[in-house]
Amino acid sequence: MRIASLKGRAAIVDGDVAHDLAVVSGGEFGADPSDLYGRWDALREWAAAAELGGGTPYKEADLGCPVPRPPQVFALAVNYQDHAAEASIEAPEHPLVFTKFPTSISGPFAPIELSTNRADWEVELVVVLGRPAWQVPVEEAWDHVAGLTVGQDISERRMQFRKPFPHLSVAKSLPGFGPIGPVVVTADELDDPDALHLSCSVNGELMQDGSTADLIFGVAALIAEISAAVKMLPGDLIFTGTPAGTGSTRDPRRYLEPGDVVESRIEGIGTIRNECVEAKR
Ligand code: ZN
Repeated sequence: MRIASLKGRAAIVDGDVAHDLAVVSGGEFGADPSDLYGRWDALREWAAAAELGGGTPYKEADLGCPVPRPPQVFALAVNYQDHAAEASIEAPEHPLVFTKFPTSISGPFAPIELSTNRADWEVELVVVLGRPAWQVPVEEAWDHVAGLTVGQDISERRMQFRKPFPHLSVAKSLPGFGPIGPVVVTADELDDPDALHLSCSVNGELMQDGSTADLIFGVAALIAEISAAVKMLPGDLIFTGTPAGTGSTRDPRRYLEPGDVVESRIEGIGTIRNECVEAKR
């Protein structure tokens, strides 16, 4: 199943057609995409039995953020070996978790508003939770996942590395610094949800090219480790970390400028496309 927000309404997407969820479910499920994740088991059960007819063709540009109001947003620093190496950081023994504040989350084709000349790209697999998770054993962790989506963990590097100590959450939470989408895809739609090719290009130039098979802590391990400490909620997001190829680790360093177009792609899920614009005050 592929869940989207189409013109702000929850929809099931199937190829180039979409079904308005509130309409096809006869009101069993509402129009607000945020409400689905708290009823994910009921939605899966209903969808398994539903006979969806023809559907309606839709425009990609009408797709909005599929999880517009995540209760909590977890994110991972240094979760790919090759990114650890390029940043000259030792691979961690436990996941390095920070938060992106939920107001930074935006849609798959939303602009990235630049109020800084130090914004950098980070393509990431994003996990969406479909059940509460609290002290979940690793072998049960995937049962708590609603689906997977594509994300960009846009990062303000000057703020991030301000002395005396690197701090991530604010530097990665500027408005529009967390575009996700275009859809939330259930794991059963993917050949191997633990080995997905992901890439990022800027103005058509390939910058990042990796596989989630190279995550230091994979999806199940992350849910087990985070839920060992924090109560996780349906609709929560986990930005799982980024592979090598970010702008601040290149020589010469490269940062985003107005007019740049960032395309982020994950095999089996789709592509998000975000144009950089000068921030409005
Ligand atoms: Zn990141």
